[in-house]
Amino acid sequence: MNKFWSPQINDLVPYTPGEQPKIANLIKLNTNENPYPPAPGVKEVINSFESDRLRLYPDPESSELITQLAESYQLPKDHIFVGNGSDEVLAHAFMAFFRQAKPLYKPSITYSFYEVYADLYGIELVDVPLTDEFAIDLQQYPSENGGIIFANPNAPTGVALPLTEIRALLDRNQDSVVLVDEAYVDFGGESATQLVTEYPNLVVTHTFSKSRSLAGMRVGFAFAHPTLIDALNRVKNSFNSYPLDMLAIATSVAALKDKSYFDATCEKIITTRENSAAALKKLGFEVLPSATNFVFAKHRYIEGAELMGFLRTKGILVRHFSKPIISDYLRITIGTDAEMQAMLDALKTHPDIVELPIGDGE
Ligand SMILES: *Cc1c(COP(=O)(O)O)cnc(C)c1O
Repeated sequence: MNKFWSPQINDLVPYTPGEQPKIANLIKLNTNENPYPPAPGVKEVINSFESDRLRLYPDPESSELITQLAESYQLPKDHIFVGNGSDEVLAHAFMAFFRQAKPLYKPSITYSFYEVYADLYGIELVDVPLTDEFAIDLQQYPSENGGIIFANPNAPTGVALPLTEIRALLDRNQDSVVLVDEAYVDFGGESATQLVTEYPNLVVTHTFSKSRSLAGMRVGFAFAHPTLIDALNRVKNSFNSYPLDMLAIATSVAALKDKSYFDATCEKIITTRENSAAALKKLGFEVLPSATNFVFAKHRYIEGAELMGFLRTKGILVRHFSKPIISDYLRITIGTDAEMQAMLDALKTHPDIVELPIGDGE
């Protein structure tokens, strides 16, 4: 309790980001960053940037980026919103759409920032359990709701829903906003992006942080019907008119333009993911099917917290969540092949991990 604070601040439970270590040479497989650098064009933009320009404010509308997004995703510009990371886009969406008389529904296991925003904006939130296979169970979402939000593919499970299920949800849920967070969709999920021209209550959010290797730039975006984009702009312009700085706009445009680099790095990560999942299974892990740049895995005998601590002593960071249903799991970001090999080699030195013969890993 502090008498200077607004009363609500005492009860806030802020989001806890994964560790960004100050120690050099750790292998970071804990925050789903991309192991490959951004597209070469990004470096050119930064090297040729004239610092004198910084005395001016950036374009409040980020028009250059909106124009490039419209071209890359083949959608009209009035269907696009950009923000300072998709976290900011999500925050504005909570403010713009979910402060309703009825509660907002989300999966019991999903991106933990949703409950933080709900708390910040005083939104009642209801958890809907996952299936036994850790899939989002859209059938269980009630018709009376003040909104529905989920990540697809989901985090931290990595499990993806087919587009047919999202379409079916949108067909029966037309009186509230459905927000699909597609932070990981480029690693193998089916995107709902093109559905925004059909369903006026759908919002799809994306980020440059994962598949475009620009986590340090903080750029996110959303697709939706112009009426919803209008609401997001009202909130944005009541909060910060210049969320994207000049370098963020210019580098994200450069990243978008290089489609072949983007495709190649996503493909590489998918291949490494499949190889890593197979190798983890041989070490006695159960690995959920992943459509993301991470795997969610639990060892048959060893607790998640213990394994995370063990890997840390070997200089390898992975993420562990203490929530009961998932506390035996580790979320391991897909790094380079060499980083994943180092992680697997470290696991093999654990006294209770034995490698099964080839072909016995399923
Ligand atoms: C990483 C992540 C985000 C946030 O992305 P930023 O653009 O870096 O803010 C949003 N949703 C999910 C599910 C994520 O994993």
